[in-house]
Amino acid sequence: MKITAIDTCILTIPLQREMRKQFAHHRLVVAEISTDEGVTGLGTTLGFGGGNVEAIQVYLETRLKPALIGEDPLFVQRLWERMFRADAGKKHGIAAFAISALDIGLWDIVGKAANQPLFKLWGAVNPSIPAYGSGGFANYSVEDLISEARTYAGLGCKYYKMKIHHPDPRENRKRVEAVRRALGDGMRLMVDVNQRLDVHSSIEQARMLADLDLVWYEEPVNADDVQGCAEVARAIGIPVATGENAYTRFEFRDLIEKRAARYLMPDVQHANGFSETLRIAALAAANQLLVSPHLAHELSIHIVGALSNGFLVEFMDWIPKDLFEHTLDCLDGCFQIPERPGHGVALARGAREKYRGG
Ligand SMILES: [Mg+2]
Repeated sequence: MKITAIDTCILTIPLQREMRKQFAHHRLVVAEISTDEGVTGLGTTLGFGGGNVEAIQVYLETRLKPALIGEDPLFVQRLWERMFRADAGKKHGIAAFAISALDIGLWDIVGKAANQPLFKLWGAVNPSIPAYGSGGFANYSVEDLISEARTYAGLGCKYYKMKIHHPDPRENRKRVEAVRRALGDGMRLMVDVNQRLDVHSSIEQARMLADLDLVWYEEPVNADDVQGCAEVARAIGIPVATGENAYTRFEFRDLIEKRAARYLMPDVQHANGFSETLRIAALAAANQLLVSPHLAHELSIHIVGALSNGFLVEFMDWIPKDLFEHTLDCLDGCFQIPERPGHGVALARGAREKYRGG
């Protein structure tokens, strides 16, 4: 089999409900890989809040595409290495996002060629993946937070994650407490600092939330400061989660060695694709850590479904019903991994035309 073409486009997806208060849209870079045997693979990477997508598309088109055209797509690891070494720069940020999209597309072809869904190809553990509801953005009112958490609870989710971005830590405590009171014991909460605090303030903030039975305390300090993250993890009682801004197994190795987190959160669309995420997950397993992938639940379910140390997928409910051919429904708080070969995600008819540009 040979890769004959790679076509890319950018889709702009307007957001609905509470999320619209924080962002007007998300944008997706889409890469469609064609082969001489008619099998195609779909790769995507998310520009959260719309960011970076033009740069990702240009990097993909100019640096990565020439390395793949004419090659056998089943040699995924060989092609991954070629992409990883396509230039001398580190494969972080833009470059990692672009590699991710193509690696996801290559694996889609492998699954289709083998006529198996990816989680089974990788040695399945579970076809039903529990999800946590995610959102809780900074400019939501308390009523918005409760309304969004209730929507996820209505889908059976047992967990809800909210941001704690207020400069006054007491205000954050009030907001978390209000959601907890409104949702009751049926739903546990996680909180996300999104790197906004320094070590001392983060420890103080976590201690103020210590009695609220939180599942995790996310990205407590700047993501580049692994030492600082470890310091927070040592000082507080709530387990730390981090990793959405780490891109390679080497960065995750540092997080693991410094004992900076209990939950690791690679993002398959950012951390150099399924290939690198699986390697990160194996490192986590060797250190008795759990993997809870960041966003992209439609793809991450295959990772968690193939891991004995997989935890929850993140369900941020922003995907409109007419974007993908099959939208995954969250039932009883879980996603069933589709039996379709590959990752099972395809653009819906007309989606390209409807969401292109913007
Ligand atoms: Mg986060």
